[in-house]
Amino acid sequence: MKEMYQLTATEVMNHFDSSAQGLTSTQAEERRHTSGWNELTSAKSKPLWKLFLEQFQDFLVIILMIAAVISGLLGDTESAAVILIVITLNAILGTIQTRQAERSLNSLKNLSAPKASVLRNGTVVQLPARELVPGDIVLLEAGDVVPADGRIIECAGLKIDESTLTGESLSSDKIIDAISEQAALGDRRNMVFSGSFITSGRGEIVITDIGMHTEVGKIANLLHNTSAKRTPLQTSLDSFGKKLSIAILIFCGILFGISVLRGESVGNAFLFAVALAVAAIPEALSSIVTIVLSFGTQKMAKEHAIIRKLQAVEGLGSISVICSDKTGTLTLNKMTVEHYYVNGETSPAKDVTSSNLANKLLYFASVLCNDAKIENQSTNFTTPEKQWDSNNKDNKNNSKQITSTDLGNFATSAGNNKNTSSAGIGDPTEIALLQMEHQMHIPISEIQVKYPRIDELPFDSERKMMSTLHTFFQTEHTSDSKEKQLLIVKGAVDVLLQRTDAVWAENGVVPLNMEEQNRIQLQNQKYSEQGLRVLAFAYREVSDITELTFDHEYHLTFLGLIAMMDPPRPESKEAVTTCIKAGIRPVMITGDHILTASAIAKRIGILTPDTKACEGAALDTMSDKELQELVPEISVYARVSPEHKIRIVRAWQTRGHIVAMTGDGVNDAPALKQADIGVAMGGTGTEVAKDAADMVLTNDNFSTIVSAVKNGRNLYQNILHAIEFLLSGNMGAILTVLTASITGLPVPFAPVHLLFINLLTDSLPAIALGLEPHTDDVMKEHPRTATSSILTRSFLKKTGLEGLVIGIVTICSFLTGLQQGNAVLASTCAFGTLCLARLFHGFNCKSEKPVLFTEKMFHNKWLLAAFGLGAALITSVLMFPGLQALFKVQALTMPQLGMVYLYAFLSLPIIQFCKWIKSRGEE
Ligand code: ATP
Repeated sequence: MKEMYQLTATEVMNHFDSSAQGLTSTQAEERRHTSGWNELTSAKSKPLWKLFLEQFQDFLVIILMIAAVISGLLGDTESAAVILIVITLNAILGTIQTRQAERSLNSLKNLSAPKASVLRNGTVVQLPARELVPGDIVLLEAGDVVPADGRIIECAGLKIDESTLTGESLSSDKIIDAISEQAALGDRRNMVFSGSFITSGRGEIVITDIGMHTEVGKIANLLHNTSAKRTPLQTSLDSFGKKLSIAILIFCGILFGISVLRGESVGNAFLFAVALAVAAIPEALSSIVTIVLSFGTQKMAKEHAIIRKLQAVEGLGSISVICSDKTGTLTLNKMTVEHYYVNGETSPAKDVTSSNLANKLLYFASVLCNDAKIENQSTNFTTPEKQWDSNNKDNKNNSKQITSTDLGNFATSAGNNKNTSSAGIGDPTEIALLQMEHQMHIPISEIQVKYPRIDELPFDSERKMMSTLHTFFQTEHTSDSKEKQLLIVKGAVDVLLQRTDAVWAENGVVPLNMEEQNRIQLQNQKYSEQGLRVLAFAYREVSDITELTFDHEYHLTFLGLIAMMDPPRPESKEAVTTCIKAGIRPVMITGDHILTASAIAKRIGILTPDTKACEGAALDTMSDKELQELVPEISVYARVSPEHKIRIVRAWQTRGHIVAMTGDGVNDAPALKQADIGVAMGGTGTEVAKDAADMVLTNDNFSTIVSAVKNGRNLYQNILHAIEFLLSGNMGAILTVLTASITGLPVPFAPVHLLFINLLTDSLPAIALGLEPHTDDVMKEHPRTATSSILTRSFLKKTGLEGLVIGIVTICSFLTGLQQGNAVLASTCAFGTLCLARLFHGFNCKSEKPVLFTEKMFHNKWLLAAFGLGAALITSVLMFPGLQALFKVQALTMPQLGMVYLYAFLSLPIIQFCKWIKSRGEE
C-alpha cells in the first residue's frame, strides 16, 4: 500500500472520508472511539496504594519502624502500637498531600495545553489538540506547533522547523504535490509531523496519524524520562535539610551515648534518640514547599497567569526588570483608524469619503493586503458586482484607472448598505482596517473575490511589512486582454519608503522626490507623536509571477498612510507605578515607531524625563559591553527585532538583574528562554512562544505580570514563614531536651510525644501558613536578590530566638510539673505545653510584624482550623483516659491543664513583643 505522502491530497482526503468542510462533530466523536485521544500516553499517575507505600521509604520512617519493633521486643507494646499508628496516620496525610499537589499541577498543565484551529461542521474552531482525530482538517500558521501528523492539502510559503524529529536545523519548505518515490522522513515535504513548528507561511492539513501513532509518538518513550525539575528553593532546602539531618543525627548519637552512660537501658535510650531525631529533622520542608507552590499556582491561574514551570514562582519574587511588548500588553490592542494621509493631505477618518479616487485606492489596498475577517463582511452587493464587471471590460488597458474607477463605483453603489460590524478575527491592525472600510461601505468580500490572491509574503515583525499578489483581471474577462498582476505591500513607513520610487498623485503616478519623501516622513512623525500606529501602503504592477520573493518588494508606488490609535490599557499606568515602587524597572520593547512608542510610554509612566528611547538600529552599532552600560538609561526600545530582545535581556542579566520578558511571536522563543522568566501571551501568542515560556498570560495584560510578581513575592514569604514555623518549633524541642540533659533533670518527653507533635500537629499549621492571604505590602519592598540564600544569618537568628522562647516556656511547664508531682506529670506538662506553644507559634509566623492586636491575627481560616484541630487533638490526649495510657501521660486537673495552656500561650505575647521591638528598630 502507498504511504500518505505518495498519494495526492484528494486521495488522502478520500482515504479519510474527509471533505473541504472538515468532519462533523458526530463523525469526530465516532472516530475518537476507535482512534482514542491525540496525546502521548505519559507515565500514568501512580495508584494511591503505591503512593501510600512510598511514604514508608523515607529514611526517618524506616528508623521509626525499627524503633517500634525494638519497643515491641522490649515489651512496650503500647509504644510500639502508638508509633505505628502515628507513622500510618502520617503516611495517609503524606499521600493526600502528594496527590493533591499532583492534581493541582496537572490541572495547571491542562490549562496551558496546546490548541489547534480545526474545521468542524464547516467552521473553524479552536479545540484542544488532544481532541483531534484522523481526517480532521487543521489550519496552520506561523508560530503554531503541529498538533498531529498530517498531509498538506493547501499551503502558502509554509516552512516548518522539524529539527526535533529530523535533526535538520533548516526549516523544511512544504509542498502539496504527491511524492512518488520512497522518501525519508525529512524528505516527505508534503507531510507535517507532530511537535514540529511553523516558522513561516500558512497551510491546511488533513490529519493522518494522532497520539502514539505519530512519528514523535513512536519515539515518545524517550520523552517520558524527563522528570520534573526541583525548584531552586527546594534544592537549597534539600541541601540544608541534609546538612541539618547529619548534624542532628550526630547530636542524637551523642545523646544516646550520654543516656546509656547515665544508666538508661540501651533500648530506651535508642528510642529516645530516634524520637528526638524525628522531632528535630524538618523532613516535611521540601514537600510543604511543593504543596504551597502548587496551591499558589492555582490562585495565579485564576488571576490569568498560568505557571508552566514551578521554578518560575520563586523567580517571580526576585524580578527586578520587566521587559514588555507594547501592543496588546501595555495597550488594549483594539485599534481604530483615526487618520488617512493621501495625496499630501491628512484627514480624520470620519471625514474621508470614498468619492476621492486616491482614498479609494488606499481602501482597495487595505482590503486586499489583509488576512483578517470581520462579521458581516460578506455583504450582498449585486449592483456593484455588475458595475465592476463592466468597468473591468471598459478599462482593461489601463490598470490604474480601472482600479480606482471600479472602487469608486463599488463605494458609491454600496453606500446604501447599512450593515455595521464590530467583531473580527485576525490581527487587530488588519481588523481595524476592515472595520473602517466596512463603515465606509466598501464591499470587502467582493473585492477580495474579484482580485484573488495568488501568493503572499506574510507579515513578520522582523521585516515589518507584508505583501500580497493578486491577479488583476478575473479570467472570464480576459478573453481579449492580458491578465495582469498587482503586488500590494503594507508595513512600517520607514521600511516601505526605502523601497518606494514613485507616488500616487491625483493625476497619476509621479516619481518620489526628496520633497515628497520628507513630507510623508514629517506626517508620519506627527502621527507617531500622538501615539498613533502608522501603516504605509504601496503597490506595484507586475506580471507572470508564480511565487513571490522578497526581491519583488521593491520599486513600489506609494499610496498613502493610515494612522490608527491603540489606547493604553487603563490599568497599565497603575501597574507601572506599582512596579516602580516595588523596585522593578519596567521597560517597553516594541516593533513600533520610536515616537509612537515614546508617546505611549510617557502616558503610562515608563518613559520618564531621566530615561530615554532607543531604536533597534542604534543597538546594532553598540557592542554588548556598551549596551550593558547603557541599559539603565533606556526605558523604550523601538523598531526592535527579536534578536535585539535577547541582547537587551543579556545586558540586564550581566548587570545582575533578574529579567522577565514578554513575547508572542515564533522568533521571540529564544528571548523568552534567555529571560529568567519568559512570559508568553495566551491570547495572541504563538504555540511556540507559549512552549518556550515559564508563564503564560491568559489576558495578555502587563498588569497581570505585576500581580504575578506580587503573588510570587507573597508565596515566597509564606513559604519562609512555614519554614520559620517548623525550624523554630523543632528548635524549641531540642533546647528543652538539651537543657534537661545538661542539668541532669529527667527526660522531658517520651518518644511518642515527639512523634505526635512532629508527625501529627505540626504539618497542618505549616501548610496553612503557606496559604496565608496575600498582601500588597510585599510590593513596597525591593526585590529579593536571587542569589541570597533563604536561610540567611538573620533568618536563622530569628528562628533560634523563637525556638528559645518555646523551649523556655516548655521547661518552665516541665519544672512546674516536677514541683507539683512526679516525672510523668512533668513530662505530661512539657508535652502539652510544647505542642500547644507550637500551635500558638503559628500566629507568630504569620508576619514579620506583630499581629496580636490586629485583625490580621484571625484572617487565615486555614491556620485557625489547623490550630483548632491541633488543640483538640492534644487536649483529647491529655483528657481522655484511654489515650492517656497510650501516650504515656498523666491525667491533669483543670488548673494543671490551664497552666499548660497558659505557659504555651505565653510564648505568643513574648515573641510578638520581640517582633514589635524589631519592627520599631527597623522603622
Ligand atoms: P509590539 O512588539 O509591542 O507588539 P508592534 O505590534 O507594534 O509592537 P510589530 O507587530 O512587530 O510590533 O509591528 C512592527 C511594525 O510593523 C508596526 O509599527 C507597523 O508599522 C508594521 N505592522 C504591524 N502590523 C502589520 C501588518 N499586519 N501588516 C503590515 N505591517 C504591519
